[in-house]
Amino acid sequence: MLAHALHDVLQQLGNAASAAHRPVPRLLAVSKTQAATAIAELAAAGQLAFGENYVQEAAGKQRALAESGSPRLPALEWHLIGHLQSNKAKDAATLFDWVQTVDRLSLVATLARHRPAARSPLNVLVQVNVDDEASKHGCRPEDVALLADAIAAEPRLRLRGLMVIPTPHADIEQRRPAFRRSRVLFDGLRHRHPQLDTLSMGMSDDCAIAVDEGATMVRVGTALFGARAAKT
Ligand SMILES: *Cc1c(COP(=O)(O)O)cnc(C)c1O
Repeated sequence: MLAHALHDVLQQLGNAASAAHRPVPRLLAVSKTQAATAIAELAAAGQLAFGENYVQEAAGKQRALAESGSPRLPALEWHLIGHLQSNKAKDAATLFDWVQTVDRLSLVATLARHRPAARSPLNVLVQVNVDDEASKHGCRPEDVALLADAIAAEPRLRLRGLMVIPTPHADIEQRRPAFRRSRVLFDGLRHRHPQLDTLSMGMSDDCAIAVDEGATMVRVGTALFGARAAKT
């Protein structure tokens, strides 16, 4: 069941990418509110990267998957895509492989300090508020360079790029300008940091437009797992 949905989503991404003459983006499966068993099912179908919004929720699922004792479960890659509170940064640095929501300087040192020495550096995206409107989260576009420089200077962190959540206009085409601005910002930042490879933007209903505008990673929940019981 989930394997079919995965196949469909990958096909849509492939179609959108080839229509735009762009590389096929990475798919992040957004598993918030979904059970660990659903994650295991998608993993068995080959999807290994999962996004969670809350540190504690991710911890619970990681524990459940470890205790399920399924020996063939492949190593999963965990991304934090929800707002990161300062008092959760220590846990985030150990539980996740990527933190996509770094939007202020104060998080940088904490994440770096608590990244375990035995692990590879924590992959980090700067979350940018490209619409500059309702959302309280994400740094201002003019502050991206400063934040990116601070992350890049930390050996225990690995700056990978930008993440954006544009204002969810009901008319999907109205989201396009924000995606386009994000790509311009990303390309500009790559002059300073040529190693950057990730622009995370686009969700279930607008990922084709995001790919058209140059997303390298899309974050998809509903189109994979079905509608969530409660909005988070
Ligand atoms: C929930 C969520 C998604 C996925 O949204 P869908 O519409 O279910 O695909 C993507 N990114 C973030 C930051 C989210 O919170």
